[in-house]
Amino acid sequence: MYTITKPPVVIAGAGPGDPELLTLKALKALQQAEVVLTDRLVSPDILDHCVHPRAEIIYTGKESRRANSTPQLTINALLVQHWYTGKRVVRLKGGDIGIFGNLLDELETLHLHRIPFELIPGVTASCGAAAYAGIPLTARRHSTAVRIITMHDPEVHDDRYWQELASTGDTLVFYMGGEKTARIAARLVSLGKSPDTPMLQISQATTPMQHVSAMTLGSVTGHDLHFISPCLLIIGEVAALHKQFAWREQYHANERYFLSLTDSPKQLTHVTRA
Ligand code: SAH
Repeated sequence: MYTITKPPVVIAGAGPGDPELLTLKALKALQQAEVVLTDRLVSPDILDHCVHPRAEIIYTGKESRRANSTPQLTINALLVQHWYTGKRVVRLKGGDIGIFGNLLDELETLHLHRIPFELIPGVTASCGAAAYAGIPLTARRHSTAVRIITMHDPEVHDDRYWQELASTGDTLVFYMGGEKTARIAARLVSLGKSPDTPMLQISQATTPMQHVSAMTLGSVTGHDLHFISPCLLIIGEVAALHKQFAWREQYHANERYFLSLTDSPKQLTHVTRA
């Protein structure tokens, strides 16, 4: 009698957009995968070219405030269900797995069911966006720390926290804050941050459709606020270095790189490619 051990669930980061930012380790896991549960913010090229053609790809996208987002409980259940079949399961997340990606929910689920797992980090959007905009997130004489902040639920930050953000010289990176750009800038200025503080709004970072808008907190205009999801904000002295070190061509068309849940809801809920 011998027991068959099932392979561990692999939770891997896909990087921020450019498929070549995938790690070799994640590539290997995808090539061996039989089932891939993927997020929305994963390069379509990675799904098309790095996953084995016979593997099943299940789309478990989320998009803030969209009704057809996949609930986290469904994703947790799919992980368990597919692991029990004995197949090699990869859970693929945009950017890094541990930055605003509900990793803890999935770890707790796996732990509860005594399912073994492996974690593979990825390039988080702030690092990708900074490099492709030509700026260091920390740079001697400019900033000694970087803060990665979610604007998904602004209520999690109280007044004291905002005051602290307004007074620090750390580089601030706001994720999920695209449509709140003006509010973020106004709030920081109202709490004493200089209106001359440089800010970059970067959308679709590292993809061929990357767009960078350079502004200052005091000069946010309606024009700057137009962006295509996903988008993040980099605020602080280092943002001014973009002018000097930008190395990528600026993209102006209104095309989307990532799928949106509004594209084709039928296809997107559990797209099964087999
Ligand atoms: N785990 C991801 C973040 C998920 S939260 C990571 O480590 O990058 C989703 C948010 O990340 C988006 O709302 C946006 O603010 C940011 N983001 C992800 N990919 C991006 C990209 N290519 N360009 C700009 N922002 C991005």
